Amino acid sequence: MSHSAIGPKSGFSTKAVHAGQEPDLATGAVMTPIYQTSTYAQEALGNHKGFEYARTHNLTRFALERNLAALEGGKHGFSFGSGLAATNALMQVLSSGDHVVCGNNTYGGTYRLFEKVWKRHGLAFTFVDCTDPAGVEAAFTPRTRLVWLETPTNPLMQLADIRDIVERAHKKNIIVVVDNTFMTPYFQRPLEMGADIVMHSVTKYLNGHSDMVGGALVMSDDGLAEQIRFLQNAAGAVPGPMDCFLCLRGTKTLAVRMKQHEASARELAAILEKHPRVSRVFYPGLASHPQHELACRQASGFGGMISFIPGDGSLAAGEKVFNRFKLFTRAESLGGVESLVCHPASMTHASVPRESRLSMGFEDGLLRLSVGIEDLDDLRADVEQALQSV
Ligand SMILES: *Cc1c(COP(=O)(O)O)cnc(C)c1O
Repeated sequence: MSHSAIGPKSGFSTKAVHAGQEPDLATGAVMTPIYQTSTYAQEALGNHKGFEYARTHNLTRFALERNLAALEGGKHGFSFGSGLAATNALMQVLSSGDHVVCGNNTYGGTYRLFEKVWKRHGLAFTFVDCTDPAGVEAAFTPRTRLVWLETPTNPLMQLADIRDIVERAHKKNIIVVVDNTFMTPYFQRPLEMGADIVMHSVTKYLNGHSDMVGGALVMSDDGLAEQIRFLQNAAGAVPGPMDCFLCLRGTKTLAVRMKQHEASARELAAILEKHPRVSRVFYPGLASHPQHELACRQASGFGGMISFIPGDGSLAAGEKVFNRFKLFTRAESLGGVESLVCHPASMTHASVPRESRLSMGFEDGLLRLSVGIEDLDDLRADVEQALQSV
């Protein structure tokens, strides 16, 4: 492979395997080495190879950053020690008094970081229903600097219309950030729809093997990138080289994994929707999803995450089904090759007040599946047998 063979016009899978990575200069090693070092030797005073200290310079991290930027169609990628560390670095761009508009069904850890940390440091937040772009715009104030979108949301799979919200925000010079963790760039590329920054918990699908925690920011604007580059080094929430290596290995297979996650999720969602022991299914790929048309317009697929309400929606019904799963592992997180089942009300969303959950249709017994890449017949049989308990 000659590096010049890879460019913006290369196909997604080709970029996933090659972008940002050249055979090692010293040995020709095909896999990017894990540069497990904190510092670099200097020849003489002021004479070095451009590498001084590993918080600032690490080739394994640089390879991952270039790879993620290429996949999202952005110019600049930055890796962090976790998804929340990436979000935190971005918030450090803002100043006391600035205002942020954020979805009201956003990831719990993001909500906690905004409400419990950044509010104390003088940022103001308004949480709104992002399924309504006019409502997002109505929340803008003269101090609004940033809109935080997550689409689809977790666990209700609500969508935000990225193009529409970008148009409204850019008229007022407001930055639009999209947490693209659920869709991944394989299915949805927010920068191509005008968004300014994409954020990832690479812990999930990008790594894909449930063996590291990491985050990323990708953007094309040089000015924003300079600020993030400065903050990544100045505040220092960088990932270690081993984790970067694991994520790089993961992104190589992103396309084949996402195809399989989605193919199985579509089948399971259709089965669940028809199932007499299920009262409701949340999956953007179902024609019955209230925003199915938008899902088709802004993404090329629907992903591998499904939420559903077993039986009457009670905690007892949810608990019975949850405890009966055999192949699906009971665990938080998502996006790995193995299938997981989660009870959001007691696990990922335990901090969300019950009334606000119920008002969104998020009933006590709701369960969320991260559909893995095991054989569909085995996944289907596990879902069927678990549902026999209600
Ligand atoms: C997991 C997750 C995060 C947080 O990322 P960490 O890597 O756990 O810090 C943010 N957004 C979404 C949608 C997530 O699923």
